[in-house]
Amino acid sequence: MSVDPVAIARALLRCPSVTPNEGGALGFLERTLQAAGFTVHRIRFREPGTEEVENLYARVGTSAPLLVFAGHTDVVPPGDENAWSHPPFAGESDGHALYGRGAVDMKGGIACAVAAVLDYLAAHEPRGSISFLISGDEEGVAVNGMPKLLQWAAARGERFDHCILGEPSCQNELGDTIKIGRRGSLNGQLIVTGKQGHVAYPQRADNPIRGLVKLIAALHDEPLDQGTAQFAPSHLEFTSIDVGNKTVNLIPGEARARFNIRFNDRHTRDSLKTLIEQRAKSAAEGRIRFALQWEPSNADVFVTEPGPFTELVADAVQSVTGRRPRLSTAGGTSDARFITKYCPVVEFGLVGQTMHAVDEHVPIADLQALTAIYHKIIERYFTASLA
Ligand SMILES: [Zn+2]
Repeated sequence: MSVDPVAIARALLRCPSVTPNEGGALGFLERTLQAAGFTVHRIRFREPGTEEVENLYARVGTSAPLLVFAGHTDVVPPGDENAWSHPPFAGESDGHALYGRGAVDMKGGIACAVAAVLDYLAAHEPRGSISFLISGDEEGVAVNGMPKLLQWAAARGERFDHCILGEPSCQNELGDTIKIGRRGSLNGQLIVTGKQGHVAYPQRADNPIRGLVKLIAALHDEPLDQGTAQFAPSHLEFTSIDVGNKTVNLIPGEARARFNIRFNDRHTRDSLKTLIEQRAKSAAEGRIRFALQWEPSNADVFVTEPGPFTELVADAVQSVTGRRPRLSTAGGTSDARFITKYCPVVEFGLVGQTMHAVDEHVPIADLQALTAIYHKIIERYFTASLA
């Protein structure tokens, strides 16, 4: 292997790119990819009321199919830097591992993709195109990053065929997990209205806490579904109950509870809202006055159905690690939820154990193995013609 992923990872780790700062990380990628023949664009987006975010799009080749490597160079803050055994933005190594904020989430993954692509291009003329889609605010509000970058690229006529998102998908060992989808997420609030009154004269009041408790129990009790082919059962969890009553002798007039639902591909956000409203209504039996409020959400459920593309990625993983990865839809959201609207996407990257933690680090052996896996994916992709 001629291109060293460790050197690229180290250079990226030295850029203090805490969301939404570019920190020099995109500049480094721009220089590195341009030198390898890529056309590179750095694109800034800013929605009113938010901070400007810089993103990067790079492409080599003009023909189809177009294989995309996606990711983000921004990182979460390091917290107390004194708690780190190696400074978070120094890219130091102890001989076995490289330390720094973003080592696994996900500058390490980007470094491996860049190294694999550069290595591949040094020896091959791809029968198609390769691009990098790099967002600068995945760890932030994610409005000026991937969603706008994808729109921008689509407006330029970019047609993506398949995408690998290099988020840290693995659980314990490199190669154990490929993520092929995510549950959707929906936040709601249940509000029960009663009648305020003196606690000594409950007959003159109507305590909304009684009704709220009954509705919460009803919504908790019945499962939302039994799971689907690629997903665990959907789950509703109450996260807060709020009455805000500061006195001891008052029956409150209103009680609220907040909840989150992680839902699978049996539901859409709208069908789920209808289902929850029906269940609350039947539990209320016409006696509890309630309302449901829903927060806006951009976290839809999605899945890339297992097929030739997921097989190609799994085969590449197995050929390097000896491990057959499981196809998972567990965990929180990622930029894959935006990319899936443009092309099939799978997430495969490093082991996520130290992400967002003090002393985030990546074994050097994992960087080398992931580079070899990405290289195999590219090689096979351009001979398999899946598009
Ligand atoms: Zn990430």
